[in-house]
Amino acid sequence: MEDLKLECKCGEVTGVVSNVKPGCGNRLVCYCEDCRNFAKHFNKADDILNEFGGTEIYQIDPSRMRIYHGIENISCLRFSDKGLYRWYASCCQTPIGNTVGLNLPFVGLIHSFVASDQCIDSKIGPVIGSVYTEHAIGTPSDELKAGKSKTRLLFTILRKLFIWKIFGKGSPNPFFHKDGKPIVEPSLVSRNKI
Ligand SMILES: [Zn+2]
Ligand SMILES: [Zn+2]
Repeated sequence: MEDLKLECKCGEVTGVVSNVKPGCGNRLVCYCEDCRNFAKHFNKADDILNEFGGTEIYQIDPSRMRIYHGIENISCLRFSDKGLYRWYASCCQTPIGNTVGLNLPFVGLIHSFVASDQCIDSKIGPVIGSVYTEHAIGTPSDELKAGKSKTRLLFTILRKLFIWKIFGKGSPNPFFHKDGKPIVEPSLVSRNKI
């Protein structure tokens, strides 16, 4: 078991996902438009998105994740009142990840917040599949869409969420207080302004 180091681009915000091994989370590519909008909002489409507009995300249970330093630099936005909480490091506008709330115990970490000076593939394994491929830009090759089929991937994701929920892995959660309130008030960002 190893730790996955987390770091924003400027190094002000650091953290860790502890005791990772391949298969303990879901490493996938999301092609949904809001993940794309999130990267574009910070003018980081080139850094974050793959050539088909996908964002690599690593879903893990919140209890594994700690912020060591720079929590005061963590900010949050949403694209609608009911949208995902999308977290970022305001010091250098690095996307961190997305969450729903305490009731759904997961963090979708964006690769931009995973420190690059470590062997990520051996720590967390390869990308296991893609979601929302129907919203990809252009035509992702079969190779790119390789991995688990949609149904199997959905089953894998739901199974993990269920296990994390029943074993109380949603807490402690670096982004929410115990009463469910986010650690910072999210700002509402209009998709039209991106
Ligand atoms: Zn930073
Ligand atoms: Zn998405």
